[in-house]
Amino acid sequence: MVDSLTDRTRVRRLSDKASYERSALDQLLDEALVAHVGIVDTDQPFVLPMGCARRGDDVILHGSSGSRLMRRLADGAAACATVTVLDGLVYARSAFESSMNYRSALILGCARGLHGDDELDALRTLSDQLLPGRWDDIRPPTTKERAATITVALPLEEWSMKVSTGAPEDDPDDLDTEPWRSIWAGHVPVHLARSNPIADDHVPTGVAAPSYLTHHRSRSANH
Ligand SMILES: Cc1cc2nc3c(=O)[nH]c(=O)nc-3n(C[C@H](O)[C@H](O)[C@H](O)COP(=O)(O)OP(=O)(O)OC[C@H]3O[C@@H](n4cnc5c(N)ncnc54)[C@H](O)[C@@H]3O)c2cc1C
Repeated sequence: MVDSLTDRTRVRRLSDKASYERSALDQLLDEALVAHVGIVDTDQPFVLPMGCARRGDDVILHGSSGSRLMRRLADGAAACATVTVLDGLVYARSAFESSMNYRSALILGCARGLHGDDELDALRTLSDQLLPGRWDDIRPPTTKERAATITVALPLEEWSMKVSTGAPEDDPDDLDTEPWRSIWAGHVPVHLARSNPIADDHVPTGVAAPSYLTHHRSRSANH
């Protein structure tokens, strides 16, 4: 029995795609940029996209202190975060079996608010994941900016993953039946890629894009 596996996180449909490997979860969370975070407010679920990063056994989220979502999270409201990386498009021989390759995680729990140096460290973790290399170049947040920000940690305690990879799983009849058996089928890998950096109008002449942007571009290209 895996700790994260509860009745609420047991994958039911296509359970062969389920994963409860913590290392696989960490890999997904370290690659993802966006989580969709849901809370219930007066019987109505609201799910919003947010930047995310993993720090140890937590997912770090941050936002405005005026945000309903962030306030509810900091108050310890029951939350659900899903994180998805799309890995490919699957071209099967039927509409029914056509699908996507992906890694997806669902995390249930109650977040806790972060403060002081712990919060600053979490904000740096977010920056390092979303904008690698940037933190050391930029102005740190002021006291006023910190007061306008809520940062929370959602613990990785109750979670599940679903992973879909590889070739289509066609109906065996379609593999033997014309015209379906003669068409191309397979999968097309999909990657999120960074393009060339575009300087804003305030960059002084002669200031080049930092090396961490070039480095990231080549990492994406080699993916
Ligand atoms: C890729 C991405 C990354 C983001 N990262 C962050 C982040 O790290 N931190 C952060 O605070 N915010 C982030 N946002 C914005 C975030 O989705 C919310 O818009 C924001 O947090 C406002 O929250 P709120 O509690 O004030 O909104 P609410 O008061 O809950 O919003 C009121 C209503 O506005 C509408 N609404 C709000 N946000 C959206 C939205 N994104 N799309 C469509 N309708 C919306 C909905 O109808 C909602 O019911 C990100 C958005 C995107 C797309």
